[in-house]
Amino acid sequence: MAENTGVVFLGQNRVEVQSIDFPKMQNPTGKKINHAVILKVVSTNICGSDQHMVRGRTTAPTGMVLGHEITGEIIEAGSDVEYLKSATSSPSPST
Ligand SMILES: [Zn+2]
Repeated sequence: MAENTGVVFLGQNRVEVQSIDFPKMQNPTGKKINHAVILKVVSTNICGSDQHMVRGRTTAPTGMVLGHEITGEIIEAGSDVEYLKSATSSPSPST
């Protein structure tokens, strides 16, 4: 299986591309999530919000993976997802 990487916030003005775990359909406490999808990222960018985080202007915790405006291919959909199916391109919301 291919490696999964992300840009990780290490503290004010410090980021690094790191190997990260593949996502799972569960919340941080381990509870299964049925109303979400997992995307294989096709395209992404770093936006102004990420720059505020990197510069220490937010409460972003260290270890947070940056980047949130992406387009991807759905590789897994929860059982409660009605209108998006696997292999659909899906842009995430821009903020
Ligand atoms: Zn944004």
